[in-house]
Amino acid sequence: MRVCVVGAGGREHALADALSRPGHDVVVTPGNPGIPWSVATPPEEVDGDLFVIGPEVPLVEGLADRLRAAGRLVFGPGADGARLEGSKRWMKELLVEAGVPTARHGSFTDPGEAIAFLETLPPPYVVKTDGLAAGKGVLVTPSLAAAADDVRAKLSGSSFGQAGRTVVIEEGLTGPELSLLCVCDGRRAVPLAPAQDFKRLLDGDEGPNTGGMGAYSPVPVAGPDVVAEVMASAVEPTMAALRARGIDYRGVLYAGLMLTPAGPRIVEYNARFGDPEAQVVLPRYTGDLARLLAEAAQGELRAAPVWDERAAVTVVLAADGYPVAPRTGDPITGIDEAAALPGVTLYSAGVGPGRTTAGGRVLDVTALGEDLPEARRRAYEAVSLIDWPGMHYRRDIAGPAESQAEVRT
Ligand code: AMP
Repeated sequence: MRVCVVGAGGREHALADALSRPGHDVVVTPGNPGIPWSVATPPEEVDGDLFVIGPEVPLVEGLADRLRAAGRLVFGPGADGARLEGSKRWMKELLVEAGVPTARHGSFTDPGEAIAFLETLPPPYVVKTDGLAAGKGVLVTPSLAAAADDVRAKLSGSSFGQAGRTVVIEEGLTGPELSLLCVCDGRRAVPLAPAQDFKRLLDGDEGPNTGGMGAYSPVPVAGPDVVAEVMASAVEPTMAALRARGIDYRGVLYAGLMLTPAGPRIVEYNARFGDPEAQVVLPRYTGDLARLLAEAAQGELRAAPVWDERAAVTVVLAADGYPVAPRTGDPITGIDEAAALPGVTLYSAGVGPGRTTAGGRVLDVTALGEDLPEARRRAYEAVSLIDWPGMHYRRDIAGPAESQAEVRT
């Protein structure tokens, strides 16, 4: 099979790596200079048997629809299904309609009404942009004044432009977070191995939200019982609600959850593989991923996902100034030495020509190990060999509380 992966980051590198494994041809468009399969040809002009769309923006803008209209086999929802990620307001309406457990919330365009609703909630306060904001449009704060300021900045368009002109305000939830990525064929949804990602910039979950600073899989608190509960209470009713709206959802339905004392609650849905969750889930996939995604794209999932029992940990290395104003053009050293360590794979998120930094998130260092502590040790050993001016990363990915717990697939 010749598979075309659309996108330019670490997730697409991990996708290409996993899709190529049982002997398939892969191209990545546009990719980046650190991804070996990169081509400049636009997706519409690539000759492929299967198209896998990585990022949310082209999905929301209807790339899957355009490729399907041209007769291509596509893994990724059309613009109708991608609204789950493109509009949090719409997503929340669908969840309520489907009876899926989620945080109490309201959607607003008027600052006075929004702030009046905030005042009815206990802290922490959660304010989200309705539209896409690269994972950065969510404020969680104990301060009512800070939440009210954020509402005003978002609704006025000054902080997130059009994406913030509607806000969703939610009650604050507590508990471990979980990412459950499901492969969907329009009717059925099959869960992949659970992962946990780290959205905040700094150790101890401090600092601003980012696109993601690391991840690990499996997740000790998410055994088969939790996965079964999430499928029955959230994913399957969501698929049914999409179908009821005439939406034939073929792609990844990414359930972002919080495991609260009252049970799992959906925090968000995404319409694609998570980045960096893909970098820990896909290296553990031992089946023919291209076949699985092609079956989903054809509307007839048959293959059952199969997993490497080993654990995977990814540490994201970020450029100076990320996430606000990343500096680019710094020379990177140690890539070959790090990649030569046992169990270690480097995914290129933002590597430019001549191995320089070319984005906010630059390299994803993934390691497989017999258990989470070993995978974590290997990942950080590889990280210690890599350097550039201003490089920064979290030192607490998968550690120690998570990695010492009992591991289940
Ligand atoms: P989202 O983009 O909706 O996934 O939100 C980004 C991050 O903000 C989540 O991964 C959580 O860490 C946090 N968050 C979102 N919604 C809530 C909530 N209702 N309560 C507490 N934290 C939240």
